[in-house]
Amino acid sequence: ASGKGGVGKSTVSANIAITMMNMGLKVGLLDADVYGPSLITLFGVNKKPAIKDDKMCTIEKYGISLMSIGFLVDPDEAVVWRGPMLTKALHHMMRFTNWPNLDYLIIDTPPGTGDIHLTLSENYIIDAAIVVTTPQTLSTVDAQKGINMFNKLNIPVLGIIENMSYFSSNGNISYPFGKDGGKTLSKKNGLEFLGEIPLILEISKSSDSGKP
Ligand code: ADP
Repeated sequence: ASGKGGVGKSTVSANIAITMMNMGLKVGLLDADVYGPSLITLFGVNKKPAIKDDKMCTIEKYGISLMSIGFLVDPDEAVVWRGPMLTKALHHMMRFTNWPNLDYLIIDTPPGTGDIHLTLSENYIIDAAIVVTTPQTLSTVDAQKGINMFNKLNIPVLGIIENMSYFSSNGNISYPFGKDGGKTLSKKNGLEFLGEIPLILEISKSSDSGKP
């Protein structure tokens, strides 16, 4: 989860999924970010899920089982849905999908603290949340709201990942979005700082070309 959009939540979800798969785990990735489903682009998927026994089938790509709200409707359409429609779509993707036997299901949730998070916490057992933030205050303030929400919903927060932490060019390191915002947030909440990811051109290039 993240407080804000555009901080790299989908990129991090996709790359954690791929890394876990490389460790020999069977991983599913559910894109429940109704405001900006990115899985289609990130994984370069351009087909709709098949239906089997009245259930949708996940789409397999790079060894990951994928399901996304973007597979079901035009992403521009989902954005204008009201709460009940979002909730229904989420249940469809969770319950009416033929998920293979998985070790882990990673859920990429929408930014903010809304219907999708509440529905997930009320209807499913969520083992843990990971909060992704960029270093600047504008992002960490919203990430804090996300942490507060998970605390209220009794979902353990595994830790914080700071993305776009710094930029390295010819040995010079710069901090375009400020420094250590994620670390400070971790300390303040007594949470583990899981790591920082620099701004790397290849990340956005490979994400855009469907090769996480
Ligand atoms: P969110 O899911 O939080 O909205 P995305 O994962 O879609 O954010 O990332 C937003 C944009 O930033 C994408 O174009 C992505 O490729 C790019 N991006 C994310 N993390 C990095 C990074 N560490 N370095 C370079 N580009 C990044």
